[in-house]
Amino acid sequence: MCELCMKHGAGKKWYLNAQHYSDEIVEKYNLRDYLMEQYKNFEQVSVRKVHGFNAVGLDYKLRMPIIGRIIKSAAQKMLHSTKPPVNPLRAEGHIGQIVPLEDGIAILEECASEPMINKNCMCRYMSRGEKEACCINFGVMSEILEKLPRFIPEKDKFHLNRHEAIERFTENNRKGYIGTIWFGPFPYINNLCSCSTPECAGIRPRVDFDIFSIYKAEYVIQMDRQKCSDCRMCVSKCPFKALTFDRESKEVKLDISKCYGCGVCRHFCPDDALYLSPRDTIPEVCGKY
Ligand code: SF4
Ligand code: SF4
Ligand code: SF4
Repeated sequence: MCELCMKHGAGKKWYLNAQHYSDEIVEKYNLRDYLMEQYKNFEQVSVRKVHGFNAVGLDYKLRMPIIGRIIKSAAQKMLHSTKPPVNPLRAEGHIGQIVPLEDGIAILEECASEPMINKNCMCRYMSRGEKEACCINFGVMSEILEKLPRFIPEKDKFHLNRHEAIERFTENNRKGYIGTIWFGPFPYINNLCSCSTPECAGIRPRVDFDIFSIYKAEYVIQMDRQKCSDCRMCVSKCPFKALTFDRESKEVKLDISKCYGCGVCRHFCPDDALYLSPRDTIPEVCGKY
């Protein structure tokens, strides 16, 4: 199990610990006001300064030797914060993990409370200008989004009951979108996302800059060579380039060290040759989140 499960899972995976979804947390930290303030001002996130830096030209800033290190360490500290959430204008305590389809469904079945709302993905909107409703919000976030209609494409269509939310998440996952779950802020979970790369502002810092903004899944992919026909269908579907085609051997190769365990490649395999195993049972990647 990852560090998050050890610290916050109460013996389970952290995102299946029902405590993190409770109204008690909302009341204790006054998260109704906190989240309303955060989402009311959401679009300013890219220009707002935190520790003297904003996200404008972030790629360049992160590549600068000293400044890059300072930003990286400040960002990690902020995202991993477990202090009571106080400042809605900073992404404090906003750490997440990749989840495969099965665990996303378990979250929606066992932990998330109705009503649920399908919200526009703000990462896609802010990077590509496209509104695509693929985040599923629940708990107090549903209440808040109700008052901020710019996040919801068509009000009636995007209110979901549990069954509809599972269907929507499954549909997105089968399209190849990466399931992710987030503390937003710690210790509250209110959002199950279906992300794409490179747009996702949570995944990109990890992949491109090695900022620990998201943990790899509790699983890792395995390939059954006996079943694989090297059809290459999975190769372009892996968002993390863990699957590649080797021109010399004419075989599809799996680099398990690059696998984030999202499981989406499985949906495109016609031969049922890909399956997930718990990360901690595979020695090469055990403990590597
Ligand atoms: S975390 Fe993922 S789904 Fe959520 S807003 Fe970002 S890209 Fe969209
Ligand atoms: S190889 Fe790993 S990271 Fe790539 S799609 Fe499959 S499960 Fe996801
Ligand atoms: S999609 Fe399945 S059969 Fe095709 S190359 Fe990938 S693992 Fe092999």
